[in-house]
Amino acid sequence: MTPIPLLSALHASHAGIWLAEEGRPLATLGRGEALARAADTPLLMVNAPLLGARLGHADLSGLDLLELFAFLFPAQFVIPTVAGLARAMGLPPPESDAQAAALIPDLARAMLVWTERTDWAEREGAWTGLGQLERLRWSWTPLLRGRIAQPTRAERWLFSRLPQWEEQPPRPQPRPVTLAEPDVMARLADLTGAGAETREGQRVFAGATAAAFAPRLRGESPTVVLAEAGTGIGKTLGYLAPATLWAEQAGGAVWISTYTKALQRQLDRETRRHYPSDAAFRKHVVIRKGRENYLCLLNLEDALQGGFAGRAAVLAQFVARWAAYTRDGDMVGGDLPGWLPALFRRAGATALTDRRGECIYAGCPHFRTCFIERATRASQGADIVIANHALVMINAARGREAQGTPTRIVFDEGHHLFDAADSTFGAALTGREAIELRRWVLGPETARRGRRRGLSARLSDVASYDTEGAEAIEDAAEAARDLPGDEWLRRVVERGPQGAVETLLGAVRDTVYARAERDGREADPGYGLEVDLAEVDGALIDAATDAARALEALLAPLQRLTKRLVAVLDLAPDWLDGPARARIDGALSALGWRCDLLMSWIALLLRVGGPADPAFVDWLAVDRVEGREYDIGLHRHWLDPTRPLAEVVLRPAHGVLVTSATLRAGGDEQTAIARSGAGHLDAPPRWVDVTSPFDYARQAEVLIVTDLKRGDLPALAGAYARLIEAAGGGTLGLFTAIRRLRSVQARIADRLARAGLPLYAQHVDPLDPATLIDMFRDDPRASLLGTDALRDGIDVPGDSLRLVVMEGVPWSKPSVLHAARKRASDSPSGYEDRLVRARLAQAFGRLIRRADDAGQFVILSAAMPSRLLTAFPADVPVRRVLLDEALAAVRSRLGSGAVLGQESSNGSQTEGVRGQA
Ligand code: SF4
Repeated sequence: MTPIPLLSALHASHAGIWLAEEGRPLATLGRGEALARAADTPLLMVNAPLLGARLGHADLSGLDLLELFAFLFPAQFVIPTVAGLARAMGLPPPESDAQAAALIPDLARAMLVWTERTDWAEREGAWTGLGQLERLRWSWTPLLRGRIAQPTRAERWLFSRLPQWEEQPPRPQPRPVTLAEPDVMARLADLTGAGAETREGQRVFAGATAAAFAPRLRGESPTVVLAEAGTGIGKTLGYLAPATLWAEQAGGAVWISTYTKALQRQLDRETRRHYPSDAAFRKHVVIRKGRENYLCLLNLEDALQGGFAGRAAVLAQFVARWAAYTRDGDMVGGDLPGWLPALFRRAGATALTDRRGECIYAGCPHFRTCFIERATRASQGADIVIANHALVMINAARGREAQGTPTRIVFDEGHHLFDAADSTFGAALTGREAIELRRWVLGPETARRGRRRGLSARLSDVASYDTEGAEAIEDAAEAARDLPGDEWLRRVVERGPQGAVETLLGAVRDTVYARAERDGREADPGYGLEVDLAEVDGALIDAATDAARALEALLAPLQRLTKRLVAVLDLAPDWLDGPARARIDGALSALGWRCDLLMSWIALLLRVGGPADPAFVDWLAVDRVEGREYDIGLHRHWLDPTRPLAEVVLRPAHGVLVTSATLRAGGDEQTAIARSGAGHLDAPPRWVDVTSPFDYARQAEVLIVTDLKRGDLPALAGAYARLIEAAGGGTLGLFTAIRRLRSVQARIADRLARAGLPLYAQHVDPLDPATLIDMFRDDPRASLLGTDALRDGIDVPGDSLRLVVMEGVPWSKPSVLHAARKRASDSPSGYEDRLVRARLAQAFGRLIRRADDAGQFVILSAAMPSRLLTAFPADVPVRRVLLDEALAAVRSRLGSGAVLGQESSNGSQTEGVRGQA
C-alpha cells in the first residue's frame, strides 16, 4: 500500500493560528505567514471556508478533511470540527486549539487508512468517483489514488443503482373508527417503553388529542382540537399514540406537520419507537418536504456530464457519491451534510434541485428512480407522513396530489401556523420572481451550458406537430420577453429599464426611496426599505397599468396552451407516444401553477391607484443587504392569512390537532383560536391545556439587567463577553438586528477564544444554522449568537445550553404589514405586547428542555416593561439586577454545580459514525 507522506496541518481560531508539521514542534504563526504557507503547499485543514473567515481570506484552500470525510462516508453525520471528526474516527477529541492542530495529521492518516479496510461500507462507487475527481484535479486524489483498489467487476453507474418506486393501487378511504381510551393508553405505554415513569400530563394529552381522530359528523366541519402542552409533557409521543393507532385501525394516513427541521428530525427518531425495523419504518413512515429540497437526478446527470465547471463540478461528484447512499435524496436538512455545500460556497448546490419547477415528470429518464416521485408515492400508502406547514398548505392551495390529500392533520409547532399561512398565501411581484418566470418560458438566452430549457424545448412535440399549440408557445415566448431579463437590476438602478415590468420596478424603487425616510434618517441603514401601497403618483399608476397589460399578454397564451394540451391528450394524435404524453402531463401541472401566479400579480397591479381591499395589505419594497440592493417589488398579504388557511386546509379535513408549548402566542385561548384559523370554521374547537411538569422555580431564573445604556454597543458587547465568561460558555445570544449581532461578535470573539470559549455566529460564520447548532451542542464551552431562526428552532437539552441572553426587548420590526395588523386589532398596544410576550416565551423555551436542565435567562434592557413578564412561567423567579449582580448570579449557579461539572449529556446527539469501529 502506498505510504502516507508527511503532512502539515493549519488550524486557526479567534485565539490564534497554529501549524503542525510532523517531526517538528507545534508552531504559532501570524496571519500573513499562515496565508503564505497555505499558498505554498497544500496544507491539511478542517473546514476551509471557516478557517478562511478566521484568517480574513475567503478563498483559502488546501486538503480539507471534511471533503475527504464526505468522499469516504457519504450520507454520514459528523460535526464539522476537529473534535467532531475525531469522535467520528474513534480518536479522543482535542482539549485545546493547539491539541486540535496537532491532531489533524493523525485524523488524515486514520481516514486514508480506512480505505484499506474490507468493511468499508461505502466502497462501491469510490474508485469510479475518484477517477472523475482526478480529472477535476481534486486535491485529495494524489493521496487516494493507489490506496483505493480497482474493483474486479465494473462498478454500477449511479443511475442504474438507485431503486425504482412501484406504482400502488389507489388507497381505499379510511374506515370510520372511534379510538378507545384504554387502547390509546396502551399504545402510549408501548411508545414510552417498559419501565418509563408514567407521566400524567402526557396521558391527559394523549387521551384528549384522540378526539381529533373521531369520525366527522358534518361535511366541511372538521373536529379541531387545540392543545397547549408545556415543555416536558412529551407531546410528540402523546399524539403519536392516537395517530399510529388510528392509522392502523382506520387504514388511513396521518400527516404530522412541523415548522422547524429540528422537530422533523425529532419525529423521525420518535416514530421509530413504533416501527423499529428499517423495513417497517420505510413502509409506514415518510418524510415529505417541498420539491425544491430534493436532488433532481436529471439536473445531477447534466452537472456530471459537463454542465458544471470548477468547484461546482467537484461538488456534483460528492453529491453523486451521496445520492447512492442517501435515505431519501433530501439535500436540505436530510442526510446530505449541511456543511458540504458551504465548503463549495454553495456553488451549484441549488441548481441540483428542482427549484424552478422545470421537472418533466414522466418524460424524464429518471422518473422511476426520482426521489421526489418516490416520496410522493410513498406518502400515499404510509401511516404517518411527516411534513411541514408550507408543504401542507401549498399542496392544498394548488390542488396537487388529489390522491393523498391529508384529512387527518397534526400541526405541531402550531403557534407558527399564522406565519406559515402568511408566507404561503402572500403574493410578490418582484424582479427576481419575474426573471424566474421569464426563464421558465424562454430557457437560457445566452450560450450557457446545461439542460435548462424553455417551454418550446420542453414541449418540442407540440411545437412541431400541433399548430394551435405551437402558436400559443410562440406567443408566450414573445410576451415573456417583456419580463425582466439578465442585468435587470442594473438597468433599473441606472434608469434604463427594458420592458413594462422593469419600468414598473423603476417606478416602485423611486416611490420607496422618496417615502421611506424617517425624520431624515433611515430606520435601519443598509437593510430593506418598504412603504405602503397608497396615495401613489401617476407615474406608478401608469407603469402598473402597462405592466398588468404585459402580464395579461403572457397569461392569455399560457391559458390557451393549457386548453390545447388538454385537448391534445383527449384527441391522442399519432405522434402522441408515451413520452410525449408524459411531457404534456408534466407541463400541465407546471402551467396551472404559473397561470395562478400571473393572475395574482395582475390582481395586485390592478389595485394600484384604486381603492384598498380591506382583506389585504399591499406594500412596495426594496430589499437590501448591507446597502446592496438585490430585489425590488410589490407585495400583497392577507390581513388575516388564516382565512385562506381555514378554507383550503382546515375545512376539507376531517380532524385537525393544533398543538404547541406556546399556542396562546402571548395571548389567551381566543388568540390561539384566531391564529390557528379555527375561528373561521362553523364548529368551535376543543381546547386542551396541559401545563409543564418542570419545576421552573428551581430550574430557572430570569434576570433583567438594568444598568446598560440603550444603543451603547461597546457596553452591550462587554456585557455579552462577561456573561459568557461567567457561564463558561454554553450561552445562546439572541439579537433582533443582524447589524448589532455582527458588531458584538467582532468585538468579543477574540477575547472569548483566548479564554478557551469558542463563539459561533449566524450571519458571520459561513455555515447554515443547523450546522452551527450541531457545533454549539457538541461543545459545552461553545456559545452561539443568532437572530429569529434560533429563537424558536433550537433544541439543545443538557448542559450545552445553560444561559440565554437577549440583547433587549424583542419589539416587532415596524413593517407595513405589522403596522396594518396592529391598526386592525381591537387593542393596538395589546397586539404589540402579545407578539413580544410570544417571542419571549419562545426564547425562554430554549433554556429548559428536560427535568434535569437548569439555567438563566438574561435580558439586557432596563426598559423591560413589567406587563410583559407574564410571558414566563408563573413560578419562575424574575429579578431586576445590575450587570455585576447578574454576573454573580450566573457564576454562583455555575459554582453550585447545578448546571456544569457533569459530563455532556446530550442524549439526542448522534454519535460519530466511526465511533464504534
Ligand atoms: S422526474 Fe423531475 S425532479 Fe425527478 S429527476 Fe426527473 S426532472 Fe428531476
